[in-house]
Amino acid sequence: MIYDVIIIGSGPAGLSAAIYAKRAELSVMVIEKAGLSGGQVINTYEVDNYPGIPGIGGFELSIKFREHADKLGATFVNGEVSDFSINDKVKTVTLDDGTSYEANSIIIATGGTPRHLDVPGEKELSGMGVSYCATCDGAFFKNKKVAVIGGGDVAVEDAIFLARICEHVYVVHRRDQFRASRHLATRLQELPNVTIIWDSVVSKINGEDKVESIDIMNLKTEESMSYDLAGVFIAVGYMPNSESYKKIIATDAGGYIIAGENCETNVPGIYAAGDIRTKDLRQIITAAADGANAITAVEKYLNNI
Ligand code: NAP
Repeated sequence: MIYDVIIIGSGPAGLSAAIYAKRAELSVMVIEKAGLSGGQVINTYEVDNYPGIPGIGGFELSIKFREHADKLGATFVNGEVSDFSINDKVKTVTLDDGTSYEANSIIIATGGTPRHLDVPGEKELSGMGVSYCATCDGAFFKNKKVAVIGGGDVAVEDAIFLARICEHVYVVHRRDQFRASRHLATRLQELPNVTIIWDSVVSKINGEDKVESIDIMNLKTEESMSYDLAGVFIAVGYMPNSESYKKIIATDAGGYIIAGENCETNVPGIYAAGDIRTKDLRQIITAAADGANAITAVEKYLNNI
């Protein structure tokens, strides 16, 4: 079978595209990596800026998106894309288990994965106190001291979440102001068990078989300090999951697939939606909007081939 559209990724962009595709009566297959829909939203404790459902849990919102796509009859398959090719107008996507699927159009909605600090101890102690997901691992650090590294929305949201569970939260940020929204930053700064360590970076994470302390350097004074703690939550942004597509599709210097609001890439019939594409604002709502725009572009494309 040649599908009208294959959607790779089942975060807000991919699921929104699946919903719009089914409503447009297109044949659609969604490929999802982890067997769990929602992408980064799953790891978000609370989503307070999606219209109509203030304060909804990220996991709950993901389930709602998925249930909506299921209700309309979207088909899902689990797997990771290992190869991707184009033969005339038909695109073939091959998964790691060797199965292949064909479609006349593809929407890449693969989002990103957490960026690493690349400091000594990070890799060695990953899963032993070093975490990239506060909502997944926070409960392991009940009444303990932890640090959150980063100054964006994710770092600040993680720190607010962890402050409810942990004895104390250090937030280590490399500049003297947050990148996160002012609303979140204000909420964080009001918490009594949070210390913000400005202008500083982690130089080393210490511990034998679990995290015991971190070394921090102040970039302005070059002074070093050590903090005893049990957990380090790294929230320094994401890297686009575009590796499998770079040989065919144009990306920018950061690896994001170059595409505008209509999600068209440099290859006819291939679209990029959500955090994977070049854009100013990476939010759930802009990812969901991309899903809708991408399917609208797909419909126009299919009408003309
Ligand atoms: P982000 O906004 O790119 O922030 C990354 C943070 O990590 C920045 O503060 C950055 O510092 C810092 N950083 C980057 N590399 C570093 C390094 N090597 N060492 C130390 N610090 C480093 O990423 P994010 O917080 O993961 O958010 C991703 C996107 O999702 C953003 O667009 C965000 O707005 C969005 N988001 C939205 C919501 C929401 O709407 N509720 C929730 C979560 C995320 P600088 O500030 O100095 O660059």
